[in-house]
Amino acid sequence: MKTDRPTEGAMPVRRVFIKSFGCQMNVYDSQRMADVAGQEGYEEATSVEDADLIVLNTCHIRERASEKIYSELGKIRELKEDRAREGRETTLVVAGCVAQAEGAEILRRQPAVDLVVGPQNYHRLPQLLRAKRRGVGAVDTDFPIEDKFDHLPASTPEAIRARGVSAFVTVQEGCDKFCSFCVVPYTRGGEASRPVAKVLAEIERLARAGVGEITLIGQNVNAYHGQGEGGRSASLADLIAAAAEIPGVLRLRYATSHPNDMSDDLIRAHCEIGALAPYLHLPVQSGSDRILSAMNRRHRARDYLDLVARVRRARPDIALSSDFIVGFPGESDADFEETVALVREVGFASSYAFKYSPRPGTPAAETDAQVDEATKAERLAVLFALLEEQRLAFNRRLVGRRFDVMFEKPGRREGQLIGRSPYMQSVYAEGDSSLIGAMAAVEIVGVGPNSLIGRLVARASREMSLIA
Ligand code: SF4
Repeated sequence: MKTDRPTEGAMPVRRVFIKSFGCQMNVYDSQRMADVAGQEGYEEATSVEDADLIVLNTCHIRERASEKIYSELGKIRELKEDRAREGRETTLVVAGCVAQAEGAEILRRQPAVDLVVGPQNYHRLPQLLRAKRRGVGAVDTDFPIEDKFDHLPASTPEAIRARGVSAFVTVQEGCDKFCSFCVVPYTRGGEASRPVAKVLAEIERLARAGVGEITLIGQNVNAYHGQGEGGRSASLADLIAAAAEIPGVLRLRYATSHPNDMSDDLIRAHCEIGALAPYLHLPVQSGSDRILSAMNRRHRARDYLDLVARVRRARPDIALSSDFIVGFPGESDADFEETVALVREVGFASSYAFKYSPRPGTPAAETDAQVDEATKAERLAVLFALLEEQRLAFNRRLVGRRFDVMFEKPGRREGQLIGRSPYMQSVYAEGDSSLIGAMAAVEIVGVGPNSLIGRLVARASREMSLIA
């Protein structure tokens, strides 16, 4: 809720606005940065115009990511200058993966920026803000020895409730795989897992405040190996089993997984743990062994297909999704056809496909065998069409089925609710707003372009998702 501007003599109300770009982990990090700012007395603003502290939490995955950030910073600089003329101060922070990748270069190219803070350092924002007040601009992009999670304030119940009934929880960060196209190992550092007890404490807090659906996130989440009971290493399956026991946790998901870390116990969890959604985002990137090898993915297309078969034996109704890169350096028509063949063989419920674009500093960016843009665009159109056909086919197969829907918010129409199916689609149904935050059994009666249409059957138990 907004607070009016302070009157003379009153304590000034300071506000923070955090704009999040990119992945789920950035969404989570932005929320935790808001918690840090909250502890420093900042209220959350709803727009840049209303904020005294502006944070751009950036992503480096997409093409020309840093150029887009510089253009955004240029607009904020004008705002900052206008305010300075009125005697009002604004602090501008660049956080996230562009901050990590570019560091001090950001201050050089855009002097309106006050602070540059990497994804492993944002717990130090209070110290950095204090330094800034003393007139010291700062760049903090070292990979620190301390664990930022030990220094972040817990989210307040009010902040949790304001963020909705579904939440992300980071359980693992960084990556040791060094796929030849990816910047994550350079911007987020090596693989690190949070201890089980700390993750469970965070989930308990969320559940107590009314969050029913939790997505455990990590750049390589299924490589999770956090410290468990008695100092033993716990797998992601162990963590999911423990989280499923927490009262109020109705549904669990995890993302993003690497095929090589899909362990037997995690596959088993999909048939043994009722709260674990039958949904798996398992990027394959290409169906060509030659390209998979050039990408340094360390598995073949056949390994992926065998893995899919094992997962489907454990959970036949599982919705599979993937990421694809088309036009990777050296990709021939024949390689692309192998990707199309893999997609036809698997049958995905949803997927993301992108044209390859070089990331500075990655090995793939240095090769001469870049594919021309027109070829990339043609291949992307072919792949999109196939993935879209499969997505719609998957959704149509759900008509007539009953399963639990987690209702998240009211729809646009009076009496309409929007929820999420176990398979990740949005579901629209008529129902009372008291169902928000609850699971209810829904029968699917229709399919929209990007969603399912459901009819409420009853409030449901978590076991309902298994009978679909
Ligand atoms: S496994 Fe994922 S995060 Fe790690 S380098 Fe490969 S694409 Fe990047």
